[in-house]
Amino acid sequence: MACRIQASEGCSTMTCRDVDQFLMAYLSGELPALTHAQFVTHLAICSTCRRYIKQYQQSISVGKAAFAEPTDVLSPVPDDLVHAILDATRHVER
Ligand SMILES: [Zn+2]
Repeated sequence: MACRIQASEGCSTMTCRDVDQFLMAYLSGELPALTHAQFVTHLAICSTCRRYIKQYQQSISVGKAAFAEPTDVLSPVPDDLVHAILDATRHVER
């Protein structure tokens, strides 16, 4: 298969922009099998996106910690809330 997209360490059918777009679905396990395979393939050859996702996951952890009530630290933050916060953050960044 021809290399359509050049990534930092090789080629992929998915661009870094696509990875950004599919990141939420990937982390919540909602990607279709084919898209997931392309996503993982891109990560395998793109250190930039691997680093980006690592930072993204760390920001989720920080976000959860920040929104946890000090008297209620054992209660998990609803994923919907986390996603809503991250969604809002992404819109601000663009
Ligand atoms: Zn990439």
